[in-house]
Amino acid sequence: MNDLRELYQEMILDHGRHPRNHAFPSGTNCEAEGHNPLCGDRLTLKLRCDGEIVQEVGFQGQGCAISTASASTMTESIKGKTRAQIAEMFEGFHAMVTGSSGAAVSNLPPKLAVFAGVSEFPMRVKCAILPWHALQAALEGRAVASTE
Ligand code: ZN
Repeated sequence: MNDLRELYQEMILDHGRHPRNHAFPSGTNCEAEGHNPLCGDRLTLKLRCDGEIVQEVGFQGQGCAISTASASTMTESIKGKTRAQIAEMFEGFHAMVTGSSGAAVSNLPPKLAVFAGVSEFPMRVKCAILPWHALQAALEGRAVASTE
């Protein structure tokens, strides 16, 4: 279990240092900003949606390793997915980082499961979930993510 935890920490640090999709794609048609005042994380997310499907997504901003790694793995996980699939992922991710379990959590892509340990650190939950709030806002046509 300790080995697994170390592997997860390695993956989070790697994504935090070398975030994927850390640039805006061309032809984006929806976007939102997220801000986590508790930690100072700020990010802007831009997406190119084609009907129900998110074709491309990228982010920019400044944040801690957890929020950056979360944005990185989230953008990798949602490309080519439908809004319904993304809503299910968000539900699972939210449940996981707040310490719940269930079908939505066990169906999460392995890449997102590395954030399971965050549930032990309530201060970092908002960091991990910030990109997902920004994503939800962008998909709902709101410019700024809610922070609750
Ligand atoms: Zn943070």
